[in-house]
Amino acid sequence: MIAHHFTIDVEEYFQVAVFESRVARSDWKRLESRVAAQVTQLLDLLARFNAHATFFVLGWVAKRQAALVRTIARAGHEIASHSWDHARVTTQTPLAFRESIRRTKDVLEGIAGEPVLGFRAPNFSIVRGTEWALDVLIEEGYRYDSSLFPIRRPGYGYSGASPDPHWLERPAGALLEIPPATLRWCGLRLPAAGGAYFRLLPYSVVQTALRQCERRGVAGTFYIHPWEVDPGQPRLDNSLLIRARHYGGLRRTLPRLDRLLAEFRFRPIRETVAAMSNAHTGDAERIAVSESPA
Ligand SMILES: [Zn+2]
Repeated sequence: MIAHHFTIDVEEYFQVAVFESRVARSDWKRLESRVAAQVTQLLDLLARFNAHATFFVLGWVAKRQAALVRTIARAGHEIASHSWDHARVTTQTPLAFRESIRRTKDVLEGIAGEPVLGFRAPNFSIVRGTEWALDVLIEEGYRYDSSLFPIRRPGYGYSGASPDPHWLERPAGALLEIPPATLRWCGLRLPAAGGAYFRLLPYSVVQTALRQCERRGVAGTFYIHPWEVDPGQPRLDNSLLIRARHYGGLRRTLPRLDRLLAEFRFRPIRETVAAMSNAHTGDAERIAVSESPA
């Protein structure tokens, strides 16, 4: 039975990209924090199904919620990086990106006491033209990326990329790519990895995408955010469309997650990375060397 990837992008409800122009970063520290309670709900849910997940955590959150990050790691889940402050790669210089992912890795490893291998860009913002970010990840000791969404969407998507876990051979070395799940439908490739697609579309969209992965013999990657299990979160102002997409179906999330965890088996991405690295000629040694925490 294939084990898929259950992933959680750990950020506050006010750090979501669609609110970037409405909530200044300088206001973040003044807003009510809700992430610990939300993550605790997800940890309880995962524990009920004895499932282990990968948590992509913002450095900004980890610095303020060290106990929460420690709790996640001690429960056997993987801690990975979601950048420092949710700046999209498309808005960053290579130097700013490097500083963000280095600082985040250092802080997360300091708290969790284990190496951070993975990265997911805010809003899947590694797009055509920003591939330099993949080299920076390799140079900073990351082993895998989960940012290349093989679809075409306004502002994000890396259409034409493989929908399955695969090796990227870059000038700086090799990096494993673990793309979010997509659905093959009538010759099209549609996003079906989680988030709003999970809350607002029929449950069968994500379910079918994961079944298609199983038929190809590969792990599918599902994602959800802590704020998506919190119908009581403060409502922030935005356009009607964005509010509908952001706040719609919040009460549906937990029951659907329950069903997903009952129907599919999940494991942290690092286990897939270890298995694929052993199969990747000559790479096993490199992994062994890089796994000792700096
Ligand atoms: Zn995010």
